[in-house]
Amino acid sequence: MKNIIILGSTGSIGDSSLSVVKESKDKFNIVALSAKSNYKKLAKQAKEFKPKALCIVDDFKNDLESLLDYKPKIYVGKDGLINLIKENRACLLLNAIVGFSGFLPTLEAINQKMDIALANKEALVVGGNLIMEAIKKNNVKIIPVDSEHNAIFQCLKGHAKREISKIILTASGGPFLNLPMEDFSKISIEDALSHPNWSMGKKISVDSATMVNKCLELIEAKWLFDVDWKKLDVVIHPQSIVHGMVEFEDKSTILSMSKTSMKVPISYALFYPNYSNSLSVDFLNITEGLNLNFIKPDIKRYPVLALIKDVLKNLGTYPCAFNGANEECVESFLNKKIKFNDIFKFIEIAVKEHKNIKNPSIDDLIECNTLTREKIKKLIEGGSV
Ligand code: NDP
Ligand code: MG
Repeated sequence: MKNIIILGSTGSIGDSSLSVVKESKDKFNIVALSAKSNYKKLAKQAKEFKPKALCIVDDFKNDLESLLDYKPKIYVGKDGLINLIKENRACLLLNAIVGFSGFLPTLEAINQKMDIALANKEALVVGGNLIMEAIKKNNVKIIPVDSEHNAIFQCLKGHAKREISKIILTASGGPFLNLPMEDFSKISIEDALSHPNWSMGKKISVDSATMVNKCLELIEAKWLFDVDWKKLDVVIHPQSIVHGMVEFEDKSTILSMSKTSMKVPISYALFYPNYSNSLSVDFLNITEGLNLNFIKPDIKRYPVLALIKDVLKNLGTYPCAFNGANEECVESFLNKKIKFNDIFKFIEIAVKEHKNIKNPSIDDLIECNTLTREKIKKLIEGGSV
């Protein structure tokens, strides 16, 4: 029995994670679950899996308690999330929180010597230096849940870093791969949320449509695989069957494929270093004509892929500023305060005007995130784009 904690259990990844656990109930014991405000769903999950601890970040403790048929310890607030991690032992924590809010809980879990199954890519994007340092210091493992990184993690098995020539992340291209660019300003929230291949939370769906998701993933890859930024690349692969590939110095390429189900990488991370043999996902039927296409991304369509190169080259607080600006923009887009094609313009301003801090501390990152978001908010309110 593996004792696990799942943060962000009420979200898309959280849901899929619990369904993987459900399929192998004898292998996992759920120690704790968390949500931000969705106490009804958290209560439902709690009644099924009976974790001894729960955290609801927004103060819905009484509402949550009233729906339960047993008495777990209930934590509240951002500090509650940290206290939950400090006070409950597990060997693996799966972090499926969205956004910057997942960073400190990830760091705390590492310091509590838990292995990390990481879906919350923003944690690595903003604080990769601190997270990777803590991983080494505490001698724990980080297993990527993000499908591209999970695929690459598998491609790299048994290979030394010096053998790597290039790490390639695949991108579906999102819903607007073929939309004429002059129509970008008319994109509605519903359009942006309808991803062709994956069903995901709102933020990552918008990130996939803008290609910001791939930018975050490049930074995530930089920290996870520790290669020069020039060895990281993106290719458009509309079918989302090949999730990642690695070119090696000997001119061979290894790629990893599976059906487009997040249950595959989630299961890999939960079972690691073992494999599940009971996952309810079909094999790829490779004789059925997979029709795989790989296309070089068009920088005019996705200019953020050019901007991210500077961020990758310089690191420090640049990724945190990039991420903070994006989080503010996505929220504003979803609240109808800005248009889809304004997102890139504001991120570009945030990056171009950013004053970098090398090797940032936790406080530097919190400040950078807050200041960047405030700045973008003011620009949006001032209508200045
Ligand atoms: P969702 O929006 O579906 O779920 C987010 C979860 O985090 C929910 O449980 C939510 O609680 C909780 N949450 C939201 N804000 C906070 C906060 N401020 N503090 C604490 N908890 C919070 O997101 P996804 O599941 O789609 O994505 C989760 C992470 O996984 C993201 O980083 C995403 O980039 C990454 N990822 C997702 C993939 C996918 O297929 N969905 C694929 C690869 C990576 P509540 O329900 O109460 O709001
Ligand atoms: Mg991904």
